[in-house]
Amino acid sequence: MPTSNLHERYAVVFDYLERSLPDDPLYAWILAETAERGIPQIQITAEQGRTLRLLASLIGARRILEIGTLGGYSTVWLASALPADGRIITLEMQPKHAALAHEALDRAGLDGRAQVVVGPALASLEQLELDAPLDLVFIDADKPSNRAYFDWAVAHVRPGGLVLVDNVLLNGRVSTDQESAFYRDLRAFNDYVIARYGERVTVIPFFKDDEDNLDGLMVVHLP
Ligand code: SAH
Ligand code: MG
Repeated sequence: MPTSNLHERYAVVFDYLERSLPDDPLYAWILAETAERGIPQIQITAEQGRTLRLLASLIGARRILEIGTLGGYSTVWLASALPADGRIITLEMQPKHAALAHEALDRAGLDGRAQVVVGPALASLEQLELDAPLDLVFIDADKPSNRAYFDWAVAHVRPGGLVLVDNVLLNGRVSTDQESAFYRDLRAFNDYVIARYGERVTVIPFFKDDEDNLDGLMVVHLP
C-alpha cells in the first residue's frame, strides 16, 4: 500500500479515537498554550497519554519521576493516575516550559502532588533525595542521555516497577539510518536495553498525524 494511503487510513482511525474517547479539556488547553507560547509541539500523543496513565494505574504507582517535562502534557497524564498521597517529580531544563507545566498542573488540581525541578536533568538526578524507591520513570528528554537516564532509573525503581522511554523509533530512522551518530546511538541504546531485559521489554508504536508519523514507546518491566 502506498505510504500516503496508509497515512490517510491512520489519520481516519485516530480522528475516530479522538472523537470517541473521553479527553479532559485541560489537555487541549495545554496543547493550545504550547503553540501560543512558541514552545515546541513535541509532546506525546493522546493515545500515548492514555497508555502512560493506564500503565501507572496498573502497577499502582505512587511515586513517579519524569525526565523532560515540556509544557506538562505527559506530566498531567501520568499525575492523573496517582492516588491523593502520590507524588510526581518532573525534570525540565527550560524555565519557560516549566512555567507552563506549573500552570497546567495547577489547573488540573494536581500541583500538590507534583514537583517541577528546573535544570539539566543529570545534575537534578544527582541531587534528588528519595526516601523510597520509585514505581515508574518516564524518560523523554535529550536522547543522547537515554543510557545515563536509564541506568539511573534501573538503580532507583522498585522490582516490578516500570521504566518507559519515548521516541525509540523516530519514524523508523532508528533502524534504517546508518550514517548519523545520533541514530546509531539510539539504536545502540535500544539494543542495550533489549540485551539486558529481553522479554520484559516491548516497544509500542504510536502514530502521529504529522510528517514524522510513527514513533515508539519502550516499556521495560523491571524484575
Ligand atoms: N514529556 C513531554 C515532552 C518532552 S520534550 C511530553 O510528552 O509532553 C523534551 C523536553 O526535555 C524539552 O522540554 C526540553 O527542554 C527538555 N530537555 C532537553 N534536554 C534536557 C536536559 N538535559 N535536562 C532537562 N530537560 C531537558
Ligand atoms: Mg517524546
